[in-house]
Amino acid sequence: MNLSLNTSSQKQSNETREVKILILGSGPAGLAAALYAARAELKPVILTGMQLGGQAALTATIENYPGFPEGINGTELGDIFQKHAEKFGAHFEIDVAESVDLSKRPFVIHAQNADYIADALIISTGSKLKMLNIPGEATFVGKGVSFCATCDGWFFKEKEVAVVGGGDSAIEEAIFLTRFASRVIVIHRRDTLRAGPILVKRAMENPKIKFIWDTIVEEIIGDQKVKSIKILNLRTKASSVFKTDGIFIFIGNNPNSEIFKGQLALDEKGYIVTDNMMRTSVEGVFAAGEISDPSFRQVVTSAGMGAAAAIQATRFLESK
Ligand code: NAP
Repeated sequence: MNLSLNTSSQKQSNETREVKILILGSGPAGLAAALYAARAELKPVILTGMQLGGQAALTATIENYPGFPEGINGTELGDIFQKHAEKFGAHFEIDVAESVDLSKRPFVIHAQNADYIADALIISTGSKLKMLNIPGEATFVGKGVSFCATCDGWFFKEKEVAVVGGGDSAIEEAIFLTRFASRVIVIHRRDTLRAGPILVKRAMENPKIKFIWDTIVEEIIGDQKVKSIKILNLRTKASSVFKTDGIFIFIGNNPNSEIFKGQLALDEKGYIVTDNMMRTSVEGVFAAGEISDPSFRQVVTSAGMGAAAAIQATRFLESK
């Protein structure tokens, strides 16, 4: 993503910016919302969050976004979305919202670099990757434990790596890792993959990918870096240790909704509850993308939700 840090925007104790519409998050939902709000001449401000382009930016090749039959790199697609929104007047700030007050309108959003007063708010803060929460996992992050094949795959040239998970992410990333690694062992807790048929077929046909079924990882072992992992076969209850240079973990996501707890209706997993017009439990606050979508989680569905949220936010502002 092509974003430059605005050094003049370091937070002053009393610095407050008034905006018609504030968008939190710069994944496909936030970027599509930015385009639609900009075209409605609302001069939207987008707080990008920590991961510019959202999780999609970490995907090496997105093959199922319409219009790109050859696939497109996730960062590149985000860049195109961003330029498109900027062309119509969207303004991007590299900033992270830390707390919100949605008890009355206009809404108050406290971010790291400034405070915002917004007439309408679109939340597209996405989700973060789940961790296994096993011994060694946190210790060896960046030393053999990774959550991003696009970022770290290169470090495992001609090495052997393990991938944990059986969903689309795990299988897609396992296939990507075969570009570098000599062997990729997919460890899945069941004997059937959750991933879609195209990815499953590709993985099954890839000579570098092997599967260990019905198995969980119990511990990650190493000294300066990962050396091996302890696994448990859930059927036989047999425990064993095998050598590996790295372990990539893709076991799903949790929504980034902590700052909205107690202010917006969330479901039992923490997703923001919306109706089919992207409206949340607070009038004037809309949500789009993975923050409110545990079901689809595709670039195209998130972008569609973002566009719908911006259209609805525009209608809301016009009605006031
Ligand atoms: P997911 O579909 O939720 O799959 C998570 C996988 O991790 C499942 O196989 C699950 O096992 C396993 N798992 C969960 N907790 C575990 C634990 N504690 N220990 C061991 N294994 C565990 O997550 P995802 O693969 O990240 O995909 C998320 C969404 O994004 C999905 O809707 C997916 O379709 C979409 N996506 C699509 C694409 C694409 O279209 N190319 C690419 C990436 C993601 P079980 O199967 O036993 O539950």
